[in-house]
Amino acid sequence: MNKFFSMVLLHMLLWHTPIFADPNTSSKPTAMDAREPPGTSFQPTHLPRAELVPGGIAVVPLPVSPDPEVKKPAPPIAHYNGQRVLVTPVPQGWLAIVGIPLDTLPGEQTLQVQVAPGQSLNITFVVSGKEYAVQRLTIKDQRKVEPNAGDLKRIEQEAQKIHAALAQWSEQPHVPLDFIKPAKGEYSSPFGLRRFFNGQPRNPHSGLDIAAPKGTPVYSPTDATVISVGDFFFNGNTVFLDHGQGLVTMYCHLDDITVQPGTRITRGTVVGHVGMTGRTTGPHLHWGVSLNNVRVNPALFLPEITPLRQK
Ligand SMILES: [Zn+2]
Repeated sequence: MNKFFSMVLLHMLLWHTPIFADPNTSSKPTAMDAREPPGTSFQPTHLPRAELVPGGIAVVPLPVSPDPEVKKPAPPIAHYNGQRVLVTPVPQGWLAIVGIPLDTLPGEQTLQVQVAPGQSLNITFVVSGKEYAVQRLTIKDQRKVEPNAGDLKRIEQEAQKIHAALAQWSEQPHVPLDFIKPAKGEYSSPFGLRRFFNGQPRNPHSGLDIAAPKGTPVYSPTDATVISVGDFFFNGNTVFLDHGQGLVTMYCHLDDITVQPGTRITRGTVVGHVGMTGRTTGPHLHWGVSLNNVRVNPALFLPEITPLRQK
């Protein structure tokens, strides 16, 4: 076991540096429209940026099987908080791409990794605190803030459908992580805002908003299978996309939906158009990204951005 651990440590030390380096450092960091939808030039990156904070992403190098007899070891299986975690191959081995829940307290987190049958180990990473800003929104339709009994019944049913979509796990050896921005437009509300609607505290903002006129096309950021679509009380017309291994994205408040559940689509496929259905203050795309059933900051899948305005 000692020998095994020393090999793991050596392995981690050997490629700690390149893995934690920002994958975008070679490309010029730009403000907002660095990676536009099809028709304009874009440079996909192949890994999300690591940000070890609540709502962020940990990119964790995984040890490969130390057994020299095993020529091509199977992909490691990693779990975090009991949820299976996405793993992706890199020239040096494998990386776990771990979603960190927004309610995580600062401190050490543990990833359970099965490197080979019967060989498991824990890898830790440290999460820092992050203070997200407060946002106060005024919604004209008070029912969208204080739903009536009938609405609550609907919301409860919808929550199950939403949860099922976000918890989706599909085996896929190579998950496409090279995202493009799903709509043209400026980033408005960033991820994580602590929200008050008409003065009342509500759930924090679990996605990234892109402000765009009604009718602006919304693109799949990478290859996907459409999990489900629907019209939801808060989210309006919504599309859920499965990119494999628990990487699920959602597109809300759409004016219309142009894809069917079960359809296989490629990067740049139009899934619908920007609208203001559901609980909104104006036309925009709410873009959500889920990893290991945890909502993470979608901006980490795009080049570094600076929100230009707050709604
Ligand atoms: Zn939003």
